[in-house]
Amino acid sequence: MRPLVAGNWKMHGTLREAQALAEGLRGGAERADLLVCPPFVHLQAVEAVLRGGPVAVGAQDCHAKAKGAHTGDVSADMLRDVGATHVILGHSERRADHGETDAVVHAKAGAALAAGLTPVICVGETEAQRLAGEAESVVTEQLAGSIPDGFVAAGGIVAYEPVWAIGTGRTPTEAEVAAIHATMRKALVGRFGEAAKATRLLYGGSVKPSNAAGLFALPDVDGALVGGASLVAADFLAIAAAVPA
Ligand code: PEP
Repeated sequence: MRPLVAGNWKMHGTLREAQALAEGLRGGAERADLLVCPPFVHLQAVEAVLRGGPVAVGAQDCHAKAKGAHTGDVSADMLRDVGATHVILGHSERRADHGETDAVVHAKAGAALAAGLTPVICVGETEAQRLAGEAESVVTEQLAGSIPDGFVAAGGIVAYEPVWAIGTGRTPTEAEVAAIHATMRKALVGRFGEAAKATRLLYGGSVKPSNAAGLFALPDVDGALVGGASLVAADFLAIAAAVPA
């Protein structure tokens, strides 16, 4: 399948910087689909820069409800309305900073699907969990709890992001990534059937131009979710260019 390289811009950048970054990506990449996820306030401006081109635009979160008294929140319908096609859900920073549980992520993903957005659901173990030998069971449990019915048929995407690898410059070994991705594929195929063989499984956590090729060569790694390196257009494009021909 054609890989997806997704950029999570987190809470970075002025409006002008976001537009300039988007302009640098406008041509897309030869061997991968690209997705950028700016902060909510820059979504419309980034979408305007990228409209009609190959690069998709997504958000970093949405609320589980379609509307209502939820100060500071944004609904999936609102995101769709301003041109987003994807939404990252259950990122470990949201799980940690906002206490998001698997049940919350599940509800948000259901709202995203109902609005016609493609959810990118993040899972991953902490360092303590990995050291305790629990990485596979944690990820399997998060997948089961966070992913709603209909996810695979709608083209939902999963990102394996070990918490300890995010923004640290550390990554699991390629064998460790391959093992978790194989486990995720097995779990999804077990639940959703053969269709889940086409579900994109991204790796995220300190992906950079220098380690991307090795990661993309692994079985069941169908792209990357990139944080820090997605803030520099040349680095993000270099990661996408590392997809094997
Ligand atoms: C992320 O937060 O989704 C991420 C992968 O960050 P980084 O690439 O900076 O580790």
